[in-house]
Amino acid sequence: MGIDRRTFMGSVAGGMAALGVAGRAKAQTAGPARPFRLATEEAFATPEMIEGWRGIAAGVSASADLAQWRTFLDGGFPSRTSILGKLLDIGDGRIADMDAHGVDMQLLSLTSPGVQVFNADQAVAIARDANDRLAEAVARHPTRFAGLVAIAPQAPEEAAREIERGMTRLGLNGVIVNSHTRGEYLDEEKFWPILEAAEAHDAPIYIHPRAFEDADTGPYAPYELSGARWGFAAETGLHGMRLLMSGVLERFPRLKIVLGHAGEGIPYWLYRIDYTWEAFTRSGVEQSALTMKPSDYFRRNFRITTSGMNDPQVLDFCIERLGPENVLWAIDYPFQRAADAVAFMDSAPVDDEVRRKVYATNAAELFGIDIAERTT
Ligand code: MN
Repeated sequence: MGIDRRTFMGSVAGGMAALGVAGRAKAQTAGPARPFRLATEEAFATPEMIEGWRGIAAGVSASADLAQWRTFLDGGFPSRTSILGKLLDIGDGRIADMDAHGVDMQLLSLTSPGVQVFNADQAVAIARDANDRLAEAVARHPTRFAGLVAIAPQAPEEAAREIERGMTRLGLNGVIVNSHTRGEYLDEEKFWPILEAAEAHDAPIYIHPRAFEDADTGPYAPYELSGARWGFAAETGLHGMRLLMSGVLERFPRLKIVLGHAGEGIPYWLYRIDYTWEAFTRSGVEQSALTMKPSDYFRRNFRITTSGMNDPQVLDFCIERLGPENVLWAIDYPFQRAADAVAFMDSAPVDDEVRRKVYATNAAELFGIDIAERTT
């Protein structure tokens, strides 16, 4: 229904523009159009992946992430059951929620920890199936959904081929990696085929949080520290730091890395990261592969999103530190409320041009999503 209304409004505006009255008519009737809202960290699941998770979660050596998922998978509390239902819905129910909150478009990604808990063969098959399902959903609702290619980093060459298939044949918009794969990180040489394919296909890699391998038993185990409160940011921030400091951004200079949750803490640390790089390099403690300051790479190669971080002062700080073109809006549906994310961004202390950039145009450019028709 929302599409029809917009299409209709678009053709009315086009007709008025042809008559030379569009501006005045708009100003007198509706005022300036609200910014287009493109949410960039929006989760979905497939039945095959959930079934695979159930098999693992039932075992004694379940990954820490799936231990956190047990209550969801058991169908415990109704609200949690409804989260699972929302994840599995990449059709009408999701669009109804988007319409209810004025969300124009979601960039979908396979929810964490994705296929990264499976053995390589199972992971490759479930990722490929998820990408087919995602492409079908985007084909059915091309003005409401875009999507990221799920890959199995356990099989780097297969993952590189899936990036190519996803970006060309399926027409998807980037890559989702749910952080570490069995304790290993993308800066390691075995994963370079993935970075190479992503760079070659202009596919930004969204590094989405998951828990540390030892989240059940290690230092993050008590006080709910292993998940969204702190552990996710510590683990995913570490992943970002490994990519930043390793020199892979010298080897793959056009690679784009996206971090949610206002950059998983890294923007706040840039001064100290630069300071230690300069001090350690100068004193010979570190033989760094970097040829410019870490913060220069961060601004060149990283983008951050506002997922789950609806704090106007944090937004203001990140825009100041990174530039308005490097910050993208996200909700983290269905884990966070769309109403909160929209209210936050509608009222954030930025001018209208920056608001439009953060809300949609930065993401449209980065992920190659065509929204031009509906932002004029
Ligand atoms: Mn998320």
